[in-house]
Amino acid sequence: MDSAVVVGAGVLGACVSYHLARAGVRVVVVEAARPAAGTSGATFSADVTHLKTPYAYYRLNRQGSEEHRQLSAALDGPAWRRPAPLLQWADDDAAHQALRARASRVRGWGHACHLAPPSVLRDLAPAVDPAACGADEIVVHTDTCWFDAPRFVHALLDAAVRHGAETHHGVTVTGLTRTGGRITGVRAGARSWSADTVVNCAGPGARGIAALAGVRLPLRQVPGLVIESEPLAGGPLTAIVAAPGIDLRPTPGGGVLALSWDIDARLGGTAEPVADGLPQELRRRAATVLPDLARARILDARIGVRPVPADGLPLVGEAPQAPGLYHLVSHSAVTLAPVLGRLAAHEITTGRAAAALAPYRPDRAAPDDVQDENLRAMDDRRPHAAP
Ligand SMILES: Cc1cc2nc3c(=O)[nH]c(=O)nc-3n(C[C@H](O)[C@H](O)[C@H](O)COP(=O)(O)OP(=O)(O)OC[C@H]3O[C@@H](n4cnc5c(N)ncnc54)[C@H](O)[C@@H]3O)c2cc1C
Repeated sequence: MDSAVVVGAGVLGACVSYHLARAGVRVVVVEAARPAAGTSGATFSADVTHLKTPYAYYRLNRQGSEEHRQLSAALDGPAWRRPAPLLQWADDDAAHQALRARASRVRGWGHACHLAPPSVLRDLAPAVDPAACGADEIVVHTDTCWFDAPRFVHALLDAAVRHGAETHHGVTVTGLTRTGGRITGVRAGARSWSADTVVNCAGPGARGIAALAGVRLPLRQVPGLVIESEPLAGGPLTAIVAAPGIDLRPTPGGGVLALSWDIDARLGGTAEPVADGLPQELRRRAATVLPDLARARILDARIGVRPVPADGLPLVGEAPQAPGLYHLVSHSAVTLAPVLGRLAAHEITTGRAAAALAPYRPDRAAPDDVQDENLRAMDDRRPHAAP
């Protein structure tokens, strides 16, 4: 394997490009807009390992999280990986029991989390209004973090370029070339690039790239709104907070990023302009937990589109109808990118299948026992869109 074209420069495209280039492959990255312009630039990007089941998928996410630590130390110091405790609570008994059950499950898997009285909020997240937490106990995850995803993308792409990768931005792939039965390159208007392997890292656009080769990827598009504030007057948010109806985390600029599944459930099926009033509604919700936010300016409101495989698990590898076209698509891909990018590059360069990727082949029969809680949270709140 000498050459690869990677379609898309989000977290997955950047990561696989880095590993391929490092292994000596001639890499061309073709990106329709600019690096991190897609979902990786409009994401909550917390470490979501604790939400993942079954165990093999939890392990994969944990490996992703660990490899962030290693890559960040090797390439960028601690800058894109931001350690912070994760604090969760619920407002009704059923939701609280679900949180407890999850904490107990992941603790059994060696995950660092414990139950604590809400008074710990004073130390761990002084910006949070203690009165906002009506629960008797909260779940505290101690060894977790959020990610500055655009910074991660740029660090990995820069490293790929140092290893010889070529990048083309503002270039949309519109066709694939086939030689015999094999995909052997991409077309973008009048331009084209040939390669031994084309890697489909187009995120929510991955279904369109697959369709160019006659492959049907079971992928949904699930939009989400995030707002970003200026720094809070009374001091920074020092934790990731998952409170009923609202998720919050710090931003690289010292402000707050907010997301609400309930608001996301009201968005349409694809990328769309941010409707008037929605960022303000999201800010009002967030300010019930972080009162200082009521007075902080909203610097940005973005809608990102989650690429969500029908069963919630990643889609990784070639489909039998189109050898030469390797798919690398996942929800929660910020957490997973280091491990998926590394394993995919290994498969592509050696031709040897990685056992850890066996459950995630694009042509698998969808299992019916998937319990990815991210996926459940989405489906509980929005009508089920056809994959
Ligand atoms: C609101 C929200 C919250 C989230 N929270 C988390 C979280 O807490 N933790 C977590 O791990 N994950 C989270 N995710 C999911 C995560 O952000 C995504 O899984 C991840 O960013 C996907 O990265 P990607 O590289 O696959 O896709 P993208 O970042 O979308 O990159 C794909 C790139 O391909 C390009 N492209 C598309 N079509 C073409 C074409 N034809 N030609 C050339 N280029 C093309 C696009 O321009 C884009 O830049 C969240 C997502 C959202 C929206």
